[in-house]
Amino acid sequence: MSMSGLLTEIENPASAGAVTSAPKKIILLKPRGFCAGVVRAIDVVRISLDLYGAPIYVRKEIVHNRHVVDELREAGAIFVEELSEVPSGARVIFSAHGVSPAVRKEAIERSLRVIDATCPLVTKVHLEAVKFAKQGYTIILIGHRDHDEVIGTLGEAPESTILVSDVSDVDRLEIKNPERISYLTQTTLSLDETKDIVSRLLERFPKITGPKTQDICYATENRQLAVKAVAPLCQTLLVVGSQNSSNSRRLVEVCEKAGVPAYLLDDCSEIQPEMVDNVSVVAVTAGASAPEHLVQELIENLRSRGFADLEEAEIKDEDVRFTLPSDLENFTPRLHVIA
Ligand code: SF4
Repeated sequence: MSMSGLLTEIENPASAGAVTSAPKKIILLKPRGFCAGVVRAIDVVRISLDLYGAPIYVRKEIVHNRHVVDELREAGAIFVEELSEVPSGARVIFSAHGVSPAVRKEAIERSLRVIDATCPLVTKVHLEAVKFAKQGYTIILIGHRDHDEVIGTLGEAPESTILVSDVSDVDRLEIKNPERISYLTQTTLSLDETKDIVSRLLERFPKITGPKTQDICYATENRQLAVKAVAPLCQTLLVVGSQNSSNSRRLVEVCEKAGVPAYLLDDCSEIQPEMVDNVSVVAVTAGASAPEHLVQELIENLRSRGFADLEEAEIKDEDVRFTLPSDLENFTPRLHVIA
């Protein structure tokens, strides 16, 4: 059902039965779960394992999801934090979050055979950073310190880039040449918070220029818009995703900002009774790195707790696909351990 149809039904109990007397309901948001960058990154690992056999090294978590990482580890991937842990000459995959030029250089020096699973939408931000730096701009990068993606983007032009994470960081900025200043953002930020930060940047630096199209990716945007639309219709939101998943955490925050409690769960084993006690309508979504089978297990768990009705509420059709890296594009994965 479309979100507007669902809204009419819930606002007009005569057409659907009053919520209080109706069976408890799950609203399942769409789009949810895997984005095109995550599908591609997981396929890169699966195909590499098929083609070259285990072990295949992966620098950092391929995507920020505990279940995905555990399942690929079982299939033969070895996850490492740094390239120094990879034997010289071995094959290594760079995660969807991207790497800095320093990491690429180290891989060449160590004769590592690199397969790059960086999401193309992260690469877009890297290219913008390179372009702005070459043109002599100071780059304000809006993002979360210590996030893998931000570390990679910062590394493109470290001398020219300043990281800000909130409006107060913008207030403290001191820029030598405010005539030549640009901004970029992490791909998985809150739409509203980023808007506030960009507005403040514009107030302080009217000449600031930004990317041609926003850096926050389509998947982050669509999942947040779905949460915003459903918040007035539910009493709680469950988000499937890992604690270190930036886009999943933002979904919780967006819902809480709308005044509705929200919880981030790695899987259904983390549901606590108080999350759904006295709730008649629960909404369910999943971050961009969370597998669909975990969502379905959560639905089954909710059914066992009396949530007999289920409606899928779609805010947007999402049909984005990315091609594989050129050395893998003629292969399809044989393993189907996650989807
Ligand atoms: S969340 Fe966005 S930027 Fe990150 S992998 Fe998915 S599509 Fe790419």
